[in-house]
Amino acid sequence: MSDYLVKALAFDGQIRAYAVDASATVSQAQQLHDTWSAASAALGRSIVATLMLSAASLTDDERMTVKVNGDGPVGGIVVDGNAQGTVKGYVQHPHVHLPLNDQHKIDVKGAVGTKGFLAVTKDLGLKEPFTGEVPLVSGELGEDFTYYLAKSEQIPSAVGLSVFVNDDNTIATAGGFMLQVMPGADDDVIAKVEKQINAMAPISEQMRAHKTPEEILASICGQDNLKILEKMPVKYACDCSKERFATALASVAPADLQQMIDEDHGAEAVCHFCGKTYRFSEQELRTILKNATQKED
Ligand code: ZN
Repeated sequence: MSDYLVKALAFDGQIRAYAVDASATVSQAQQLHDTWSAASAALGRSIVATLMLSAASLTDDERMTVKVNGDGPVGGIVVDGNAQGTVKGYVQHPHVHLPLNDQHKIDVKGAVGTKGFLAVTKDLGLKEPFTGEVPLVSGELGEDFTYYLAKSEQIPSAVGLSVFVNDDNTIATAGGFMLQVMPGADDDVIAKVEKQINAMAPISEQMRAHKTPEEILASICGQDNLKILEKMPVKYACDCSKERFATALASVAPADLQQMIDEDHGAEAVCHFCGKTYRFSEQELRTILKNATQKED
């Protein structure tokens, strides 16, 4: 079954609701980066959150980069998302496995850490990208994204993120939900939703019982209160190219480029997102250097 995200309105537009099944997407990230359980959960939850944040706030060619930088063993996490439901991401240290926490779940907080920040940079096609940054408040990530939305975007919300990892490190399920409270929403609607979120079965349990994103939203808001607006496929894909790395090389200091030419007789660039390697010959580097220095004149 292929992954998809649903966008919905609940309670006559008082709440915007999103849910996603990203099992195959996170599974692809796990295989690409050979992540172990705790790193899979940390990267996977970040991917699930980025998919929903992107769906909620981007259009057309806009894109966002989510960075989670905690003091835990996985190190930094970077995930890129766009309005079309495509994501790519990586984690600094993929080989992290930790003992289960006291709730017998993967210790995401232990993997990510509790000191650090969560930053969301949106490239909205304007001159300057918009960046919102908040300190980590939990490390479990769901609460951290909730805090980001409240602090940086002034949107009261509830975010649930889940990645279930099999014993052999493969991904069983990955997904989540995000509810955003619109201005002027009734207090009793908010109370009802909060109560339901606390009462319902954990999202990983629902997903393992093959509940769809629509059914998960219905379990929170009630089927009759929910209006599905859109169903959008989501996937992991990298859009890197040799041209893009050439552009990056052009911004390297001329002295450093010269050194790559003289000493290394070429350069090799590896894409963090997909692992692809791009080779630049001495001649190609000379052209890049020539064009870069000409531009500066
Ligand atoms: Zn790539």
